[in-house]
Amino acid sequence: MKFNCGSCGKIDEAVFDGYLFGDRLLEGVKFAARKNDDGSCEVRLMEPGTLAVPDEKHWMSLAKKFAEQNDVLECPACYGQAVPDDMLA
Ligand SMILES: [Zn+2]
Repeated sequence: MKFNCGSCGKIDEAVFDGYLFGDRLLEGVKFAARKNDDGSCEVRLMEPGTLAVPDEKHWMSLAKKFAEQNDVLECPACYGQAVPDDMLA
């Protein structure tokens, strides 16, 4: 499933800031999400090594949950809103 940005059209990945689910601990850490057709997400760090927390696995799983439960993420190119493609259908 792709995301749709109002300015850029269809995009594969949408990004979000760790602050949204990790508060100040993850502020400024950028994550990128891909959505599978079943609604689940694959999440990765935009820049490997930027998640400087002891329990990386825990936070990555929270990032995945956040991406799956939030339909409005950010476009990595223009920082506009990116929503899953099927929401517009
Ligand atoms: Zn865009």
